[in-house]
Amino acid sequence: MPVEICPLPKTRNVDSINAAFESIYKKTPTFYIRVPGRVNLIGEHVDYCGYGVCPMALEQDIFLAVATDDTQKKLNLHNLDKKYESYECPLDTIEIVLNDAAPKWYQYFLCGVKGVLELLGETERNKIKGLEVMVDGSIPQSAGLSSSSALVSAAALATTHSFQVCCAKLIEFEPLRSAEVQLPPGAVFVIAHSMAKMNKAATTDFNSRVVECRLAAQIIGQRKGLDWTGVRRLGDLQKTLGVTLDEMIALTKEILHERPYSKEGVIRELNTTSTQLDRLSLTPNTRDIQSFKLHQRALHVFNEAKRVQQFYETCKNMTGGEDSLLLLGNLMSRSHESLKELYECSHEALDRIVDLAKGLTLGTRLTGAGWGGCTVSLVASENVEKFVNLLIESFYKPLGVTDGFESLVFRTEPMDGARVYTPI
Ligand code: ADP
Repeated sequence: MPVEICPLPKTRNVDSINAAFESIYKKTPTFYIRVPGRVNLIGEHVDYCGYGVCPMALEQDIFLAVATDDTQKKLNLHNLDKKYESYECPLDTIEIVLNDAAPKWYQYFLCGVKGVLELLGETERNKIKGLEVMVDGSIPQSAGLSSSSALVSAAALATTHSFQVCCAKLIEFEPLRSAEVQLPPGAVFVIAHSMAKMNKAATTDFNSRVVECRLAAQIIGQRKGLDWTGVRRLGDLQKTLGVTLDEMIALTKEILHERPYSKEGVIRELNTTSTQLDRLSLTPNTRDIQSFKLHQRALHVFNEAKRVQQFYETCKNMTGGEDSLLLLGNLMSRSHESLKELYECSHEALDRIVDLAKGLTLGTRLTGAGWGGCTVSLVASENVEKFVNLLIESFYKPLGVTDGFESLVFRTEPMDGARVYTPI
């Protein structure tokens, strides 16, 4: 893999990770991996429907110091934060056993390593060496800022780099398109943690939304003469029908009633059986749900997909004027309103931040899956300090928080993506 030499971000100091690495492994690291967290600026709950989103890399990251060990094929894993237990295992027989509890931190790492090893042929796999790793992470967790994905990606990159496997192989799992978005001058994004945490694995909320979108697509597809069993995502349905987002919004209003659908109602609409519906449309943990809000969920998805397009267009045509900033802020506020009212995935703590933010930001919305986690606000540069102080005084202090505000509410600039760093 060609290694690009570039400086580490100013925010990343390697002294403490080097010292910890050397004291444990008695050598210096051969390379570093940095994978940033990310905040989604707009486009929530539309990715799994087949629509684009607008993520921005953060300065907070998962940072690894790594060395290879020629003497044994073992993974050795330590974390700078002592609350994460050290771990070691043979590299040729990685086992990841999950039970109902939340995964252990090192299991995320193992997923990244195993994913890469499984792509290697037997000869390549036989060449693997041991890996010695020290992890240091600064991404707030379970806040919708992708700390666990960053850990998995960092592990995959470390494995790839240490075995000199070509990276491109890894990311061809789906054709991905991306376009650079130039963000506005004169304003920055501020992230604020609501202090409410949602564990996606422990509730059916998230999966029920995925299923509601699928059912909405299947019912609209059926009414438009398609075989509903082949319809999975609202975005794919739009492509098959060859219509615009506005036309999808009109179809949603015409075909899906506002009243929640019962499971029997869905079965009737699709002219199917409960067994077939369970098998083709539902997931094991959504089979007992009896009420589905299809009209509301589909309306959110199509309107949110439109807002992403408008956000992108506004950034592209940005003249630097205040009007563009107002427009972007307005799109973010409307996104939150829709997530709260139509998608029902907000949380009272998130709504409180949104209310407090009204006078001082151009727009504020929840970011990530919702039901807790963070908000992201677009804030004119001159108001950032006032806004941060307002949240400290009126949101965090009344909740009993007395320190550590800088990791709860912070401004963020767009940062570099994931990279391998080698000492020169
Ligand atoms: P997120 O939305 O931030 O990815 P999750 O709840 O899905 O939140 O994942 C958080 C988990 O990721 C943590 O419980 C931990 O196991 C792992 N993790 C995140 N950051 C670190 C870190 N710096 N060190 C070790 N494990 C981490």
